[in-house]
Amino acid sequence: MKDSDSKIPGQKELEKELNEYLGKKYGDRIRLVVPMLFPKPQTEEVSKDEKEIIGKKAKIQFDLKPEELEAFLNDYIIRQEEAKEILATKICTHFNRIKFTEMTKGKTRYEGVGHIKNNILMIGPTGVGKTYLIKLIARKIGVPFVKGDATKFSETGYVGGDVEDLVRDLVYEADGDMEMAQYGIIYLDEIDKIASSNHTIGPDVSRTGVQRALLKPMEETEVDLKVPHDPISQLEAIEHYRRTGKKEKRTINTKHILFIMSGAFNGLEEMVKRRLNREGIGFGAEIRSKDERGEYLKQVKAEDLITFGFESEFIGRLPVAAIFEKLEIEDLYAILKNPNNPIILGKKKDFKSYGIDIQFEEDALYELAVKAYEEKTGARGLVSAVEKVLLKFEKRLPSTDIRQFVVTREVVEHPEQELKRLLENPMHPERLARFEKLLSREKKALKESILSREGEFRRRYGVAFPESRIDLIARRMVEKGYDVNTVFEEAVEVQRQVEEFEREFQQKNGIRLQFDGEAIGRITEMALEEDMSGERVCSRLLKDYEHGMKLIRDRMGRREFVITKEAIDDPEGYLNRVIQEAYGRRFDLEAEGNG
Ligand code: ADP
Repeated sequence: MKDSDSKIPGQKELEKELNEYLGKKYGDRIRLVVPMLFPKPQTEEVSKDEKEIIGKKAKIQFDLKPEELEAFLNDYIIRQEEAKEILATKICTHFNRIKFTEMTKGKTRYEGVGHIKNNILMIGPTGVGKTYLIKLIARKIGVPFVKGDATKFSETGYVGGDVEDLVRDLVYEADGDMEMAQYGIIYLDEIDKIASSNHTIGPDVSRTGVQRALLKPMEETEVDLKVPHDPISQLEAIEHYRRTGKKEKRTINTKHILFIMSGAFNGLEEMVKRRLNREGIGFGAEIRSKDERGEYLKQVKAEDLITFGFESEFIGRLPVAAIFEKLEIEDLYAILKNPNNPIILGKKKDFKSYGIDIQFEEDALYELAVKAYEEKTGARGLVSAVEKVLLKFEKRLPSTDIRQFVVTREVVEHPEQELKRLLENPMHPERLARFEKLLSREKKALKESILSREGEFRRRYGVAFPESRIDLIARRMVEKGYDVNTVFEEAVEVQRQVEEFEREFQQKNGIRLQFDGEAIGRITEMALEEDMSGERVCSRLLKDYEHGMKLIRDRMGRREFVITKEAIDDPEGYLNRVIQEAYGRRFDLEAEGNG
């Protein structure tokens, strides 16, 4: 042992030697700043990492049910009913299937052999919710998500490498957590551009090549985390060695990674139409729907995609297809009216960051939808329409005293003229009244909509929400600009923290506390309003009674207390009542405590 030690220089020595060498070669310009080349002994740090991984794994919602996921999507996505149904179901099954496979691992000899992953093909024009839908699902399930562009693959000429880059990006998205990365979702847009038919421009060979390069990752392959010749990934490898002392090959297996491909597939409808005609299904003449193209696409089969220019092996790895419909003006209007939509929420937050509250009149939203529709980029047009109208206001209002602003139809139609009018008479009473009316209407509508779905939310979150808490939720959505599920999740989290507090209190003091529904509501209110955890609120409240409760426990042997809303609002009165009950008289706590 000693012998070998003397051969290898110590860390300090090595650092000195290396710096001397670098100094000689480059002068003082370069010094070694990563001197921690030696593996640390296996300490607790590693096991903490492992704990984290276990914790993160538990964060993946493997047990979500398709209908729950679909209902969640309905809160955000307008139209696309069929796509929501297909994607919610297949993605849920994908993750439940992983859990099931892990549970039965090693028990059935042939498990997984020949299993085909449910990679998904999404077909539809731009700006209709494809990316949005997948992002929402990834966030809900709690898995990393990356988006890539298939056209980039052919341009680089380095076929295959790019797909692997996306796999590595998953690790980055998962904050370096390899385990989580292996459950990620890779979304590849413009996949129609790698079809090799004659209506696309450019060499076909490379397109077929890209399709082939995708085959393996789509099924199962090992991707090396280290990119050859990339100094950063080399440094990461050194860092890993230092932390763990292991020089293992770090690879990501793509077996569980879900691939979702999408594209507009212009011209595909013609191929479907021709096939249907060939098959003698005289379908064409009956289609009268606005979205004729969409109707044909719904009939798409693998053979149409092969005609379009895909290899059959490639299509074979995309067993599920979902068609997204074109959005009409009414749909764009519905998107803007949806209180969870990030376009309006985002704009409200932009202004809020200058202390300005804005409200939109319905007429204004409709006008914005009309303008956006003309751009023919689906809901993407909404973002640019909103930006175009509000830019001058966003620039000018922060330097004024104006703190409330109503976007009316006139504002949308003549933004500059309306800005001038607003600046000339900022405190116009009618304008202020209009704002107040819209604000209270917004809160009321939100509350009513949540109330009407109380049963659904109760099932989704496993918790009942009385009217007072729904009021709080609606208020918070308006004030903070959060979407409905964010606020519900916050409220549920506080409730979980209160339960945790009850458990810890019992362990510590041998006293069982039970906060009733109203008390939990009050604590939720306090926690959300003061930006504190449920536990902090509880321990702050309980500081006042802990002593009294222990006294009662010791004197009377009482070990259970129900905490009501009154107990929270008036701790002293509550304790006095409890003590009175116990002793049959009023009682001065302080005196008893000191005596
Ligand atoms: P694409 O279909 O090109 O992937 P996106 O999903 O990125 O389009 O849509 C851009 C934005 O438009 C989304 O972030 C979302 O705010 C909005 N959007 C698009 N489609 C819908 C929809 N069906 N329902 C609600 N919002 C939508």
